Amino acid sequence: MTAPTPHHFIALIEDACTSCLICVQECPTWCISLDSHHEEVSEPGARRPRTVSVLDDFRIDYGLCMYCGICVDLCPFDALEWRPRVGYQAEGRDDLVHDIARLDGGTSDG
Ligand code: SF4
Ligand code: SF4
Repeated sequence: MTAPTPHHFIALIEDACTSCLICVQECPTWCISLDSHHEEVSEPGARRPRTVSVLDDFRIDYGLCMYCGICVDLCPFDALEWRPRVGYQAEGRDDLVHDIARLDGGTSDG
């Protein structure tokens, strides 16, 4: 893994996330939160529907994150990755909590 710098942020690749909760459980500062629900998916030829987890919400609190990279390293589905972000400014404490929209892509100015 490339060592992150203070100007790197974590991007969530939403379609790759299976809501497995590994990142939530392993984050040493408990700064990742996630909500999901289950849906049944019927596939042609399958004898019964398959249950899949659907991501509803995913947040990282950058007020607590220490940029250790454990979440990126442990995600089994490569749904998290470091991305450079330039010119980011937070207006206040609440602005440091990034939801799916702000984590998606991770390259905007915040
Ligand atoms: S980089 Fe470390 S502290 Fe930040 S969200 Fe990932 S596991 Fe948590
Ligand atoms: S470890 Fe990866 S796949 Fe699992 S919940 Fe976190 S981001 Fe999603």
